[in-house]
Amino acid sequence: MNLSQRDQQIIWHPYTQMKTADAPIGIVRGEGAYLIAEDGSYYLDMISSWWVNLHGHANPYIAEKVSKQLSTLEHAIFAGFTHEPAVKFAEMLLAVLPENMAKLFYSDNGSTAVEVALKMAIQFWYNKGTKRTKILAFKNGYHGDTFGAMAVGDRGIFTCAFHDMLFEVIFVEVPLERNEEDLLKSFKYITDNHDDIAAFIFEPLVQGTAGMVMYNAGILDKFIEVAKANNIITIADEVMTGFGRTGKIFAVDYLSQKPDIICLSKGITGGTMPLGVTVCTNEIYSAFLSDDKSRALFHGHSYTANPLACTAAIASLELLLSPDCQKQIEVISLAHIEFKNKINTHPNVLNVRTIGSIIAIEIKTSTATSYLNNIRDYLYNFFLDKRMILRPLGNIIYLMPPYCIEGQQLENVYQAIIELLEELKLKKL
Ligand code: PMP
Repeated sequence: MNLSQRDQQIIWHPYTQMKTADAPIGIVRGEGAYLIAEDGSYYLDMISSWWVNLHGHANPYIAEKVSKQLSTLEHAIFAGFTHEPAVKFAEMLLAVLPENMAKLFYSDNGSTAVEVALKMAIQFWYNKGTKRTKILAFKNGYHGDTFGAMAVGDRGIFTCAFHDMLFEVIFVEVPLERNEEDLLKSFKYITDNHDDIAAFIFEPLVQGTAGMVMYNAGILDKFIEVAKANNIITIADEVMTGFGRTGKIFAVDYLSQKPDIICLSKGITGGTMPLGVTVCTNEIYSAFLSDDKSRALFHGHSYTANPLACTAAIASLELLLSPDCQKQIEVISLAHIEFKNKINTHPNVLNVRTIGSIIAIEIKTSTATSYLNNIRDYLYNFFLDKRMILRPLGNIIYLMPPYCIEGQQLENVYQAIIELLEELKLKKL
């Protein structure tokens, strides 16, 4: 039996209808932007393996640092103890985060980074003796799959079995250019008329899972300003946007208003190991300081601040900040803009949007939305047949490549997209 067959006997995969899914592709090796399958095929990883990879698979620089760390210290309990990789990464990260960020809390994935942020915000008010427990969030957002993270995300098919169990959230529409001012007014109305809102959580500039929905920094600044005027804690979920995806190190670097809490994960280790961090201001942190032990933040995971993950994060951040990598991000961004201009007016394109190294193309479909699932599968398989890994979100295809992608590899994917658009014209999907 090959790897894929052995897997099918015993493994349950994420976000997968196991009854109808195709057999998983067994991957044996990674190299740059490629994942290499057991049959020897090279798959171009155009979504950075669920948005985590920054510098290519099996990156030798990160591998060397992690393997050295592995024989020095693999893990240590992080309550009552600390270690060099955790401290060093925190120092490095704080140096590149907005100035108001002061304290860093470690966890181990994007959902837990969000859980911690929500708990910080709610307990902040609890510790102050103020009853503020509601959360404000954008409609169609995605913040993870644990219960708190699900609660603040879109209430859709991913979450419907759990709706009765999710805590109360006030949802507001994400401001797009056509309705920015109206939505700002209603946001102001809501925040002025509720004195029980603890926090406002948002994916800055790009709602990833919603379909790479992009909105302006200027309007987000105004939303944050309104929230702050009402003493609402602002939480930027940069789990997807962080570490260069939007062209700057963080999406919040485009803002003049700075959030009180930032969640990071995914690209944090360059895609090497799971790690999450929640970073906050001194003001948030101070509300937990007390002679009364019960005011502490009672949250922690066994693998909190794992030294190997922190080491991978240090190495990945070093690579990210290097002039070579910054240049690469710029080259990808410019290539995306050029490609956008090329296909913008194609009859099968509804909308193309790009920011930094992300480009999203909304395919025009003449059929009703219920058909979109089929279109998603059609699109997925179209690219998979060409050994390119894309995971369309309904009728939206997007690219989020590792920064090491080469010009020709990117060009091949653009060509495949043009081919797809032409084919769709004939098929009239
Ligand atoms: N927040 C955002 C914005 C995300 O995109 C994701 C994952 N796609 C998460 C949180 C959850 O991260 P994880 O999958 O690591 O739990």
